[in-house]
Amino acid sequence: MAHEYFHNFNVKRIRPIALGPFDYDKENLTDMLWVSEGLSVYYQDILLVRAGLATRQQYLEKMQNSIARFENAPGRHYQSATESSLNAWGTGSGVGADRSTSISYYDNGAMLGAMLDLKIRNESRNARSLDDVMRGLYRKYYLGKKRGFTDAEFREECESAAGAPLSEVFEYASTTNDVDYAKYFAYAGLEIEVTKQEAPGAYLGINTHTQDGKLVITSVTADSPAQAAGLRAGDQVLEVDGTKATPKALNDLLAARKAGDRIKVQDVEVVLAANTKRVFAIREAVGPNALQAAILKDWMRAGQLKP
Ligand SMILES: [Zn+2]
Repeated sequence: MAHEYFHNFNVKRIRPIALGPFDYDKENLTDMLWVSEGLSVYYQDILLVRAGLATRQQYLEKMQNSIARFENAPGRHYQSATESSLNAWGTGSGVGADRSTSISYYDNGAMLGAMLDLKIRNESRNARSLDDVMRGLYRKYYLGKKRGFTDAEFREECESAAGAPLSEVFEYASTTNDVDYAKYFAYAGLEIEVTKQEAPGAYLGINTHTQDGKLVITSVTADSPAQAAGLRAGDQVLEVDGTKATPKALNDLLAARKAGDRIKVQDVEVVLAANTKRVFAIREAVGPNALQAAILKDWMRAGQLKP
């Protein structure tokens, strides 16, 4: 409910320029549905805390569960939030129907929203937040220019609120790079504890994207079998174990293997490791500094909504 109400603002008022004016007869391609949908998911939850309808703990539990869903589904190794958004009209993968090879820009966008908000609060020493970005977009584009905003204009609004470049968060949105959650939640004095549990299948450790129908490695996870075997970002993978490399082919292969098995990624032989599932627990750290305490308080303060 809160989500659909929030769309009255985020989408009906402020939206990526590609989405409007609305024409329901045509597809409108944008890579910013993580902003339109993802940030609406972000606000649907945080607004409940600010309105006193949900507790801080309930919010953090929801966030840690969506991080776990995202991290434990293989799709995050193959598709970024912006790619998922652009694909929304094609395969319907934008909502992450098949979490083995694609992601949901709803869940992922909500996490990106939290990281963007916390980063802006930290960089501005808690003087500004994502709320200022949203209000700024409303004033500048909806009321002022009477149009939507471009990717660059959205980023500019975020960076001007932060007073600093936000390359890392925007890179998380447009790549499959591993996310450093601990760093972002620490801005609000929160700790994120990660517990690993064994899971079926095998682990390789590459993040990719598909370029002109070809699988390209975008990053290699530290201490992974892929790194040990010498695979690198930028490597093109045409074949895995003699089969044409696609997200599905690679995912199926890894699902059918176990730790210690060898596979060939292009010409490189890799000894696979055990697959794990991760459980995340976000909690308040003992003895946060003044800035961290202030950020947490303002971020989730109940009763701060002004008419
Ligand atoms: Zn929605």
